[in-house]
Amino acid sequence: MKILVINTGSSSIKYELFDMADHRVMASGIAERIGEEESLIIQKNILSNGESTEIKEAVLIADHHEGMRHIVDLLVDEEYGAVRDKNEIAAVGHRVVHGGEAFHSTTIIDEEVIAAIKRNIPLAPLHNPPNLIGIEVAREAFPDALQVAVFDTAFHQTIPMRAFLYAIPFELYEKERVRRYGFHGTSHAYVAERAAEYLGRPLGELNLITIHLGNGASMAAIKNGKCVDTTMGMTPLAGLVMGTRSGDVDPALPFFLTDHLGMSPKDIDTLLNNESGLKGVCGTNDMREVIEKIDAGDSRAKIALDLYTYRIKKYMGAYFAVLEILDAVVFTAGIGENSPYVRELCSRGLNRLGMEIDLERNKLAGSGISEINSQNSEVKILVIPTNEELKIAQETKKAIANSLK
Ligand code: ADP
Repeated sequence: MKILVINTGSSSIKYELFDMADHRVMASGIAERIGEEESLIIQKNILSNGESTEIKEAVLIADHHEGMRHIVDLLVDEEYGAVRDKNEIAAVGHRVVHGGEAFHSTTIIDEEVIAAIKRNIPLAPLHNPPNLIGIEVAREAFPDALQVAVFDTAFHQTIPMRAFLYAIPFELYEKERVRRYGFHGTSHAYVAERAAEYLGRPLGELNLITIHLGNGASMAAIKNGKCVDTTMGMTPLAGLVMGTRSGDVDPALPFFLTDHLGMSPKDIDTLLNNESGLKGVCGTNDMREVIEKIDAGDSRAKIALDLYTYRIKKYMGAYFAVLEILDAVVFTAGIGENSPYVRELCSRGLNRLGMEIDLERNKLAGSGISEINSQNSEVKILVIPTNEELKIAQETKKAIANSLK
């Protein structure tokens, strides 16, 4: 079975085609700068022997419909295509950012599901509209394939009320669904499953803290395999310090910015989402550059990394308390997978809590799953590469199987 995974942003469509027989990626690509003057489409085809070819086309892509048509053409291209006929693609799995409270799991898309995703637009005004366009264009391009939605929020729907409710008038939850939702759920769920496989224990018996450190960053507390708390909130702005996002700030900060600096809600939105985090403190949102700057003696970069890792460690302590018993901590995504220095700073000094990092193993962690705790550590510390696209493909396959039952 071949499954196409689509992640549609405001000006791009990212896609990956899987052969689910062996979970092999057959093709992956991106149509970017859609609607701009110079759009670009890049596709990499990967043969079963591991050889790959890359096609790069500078084409004018006026809108997502056109982008999708180009993608289909490339996927079935006689010379470069990954499949002969688009009907070989049995299903399309869509990443949908905000499922609100309506979706606890992966769902086959019908008119009602589309209406529910639309109702959640106020909660994710930047993400759900392009996701809906992705669904619309994929339905048009693959009329015979099943369309499936995999929500970033679904994994966090098991969080209990004491952890998801904000202490503000209850009507705001009842009427407007203002609450913590959490994001990156697909990644947290994927690495939790991989951790269970690695530890050789059922996920339902495991207590984990998963730490996703990409451009966006979040943590999840997982008790008996179910998420019980997470750092992001109603929007992906809350929690950890991120590349350009502030994470937690005093909720009264926007009033100060308005009253004293005359900033508009839009200015504040831009400030907290795009100009804060690592970038706000030291001028770059790229962790590699932050570390290079520290090596070159830049004191602001040092402060930025200090803030970044302190916040993670603080939440680690909080989630230790929430979970009471902890089996493993998992680091994942760009920074979590690739920066021994960040992992070390977050994990140091927690021996009394039963968690001890082995600095040598930490430095040697490679591309697969690595265990970086010392022999004596009661809590395992794991580095597990995330793969949100594969998880979406797996979820899509499962949804199809469930629908046939
Ligand atoms: P996205 O959220 O866009 O998917 P990624 O998961 O790719 O992001 O993570 C991007 C981050 O990973 C960037 O801050 C980048 O600097 C960081 N990163 C990648 N490789 C390394 C490395 N070797 N050391 C430190 N940081 C790294």
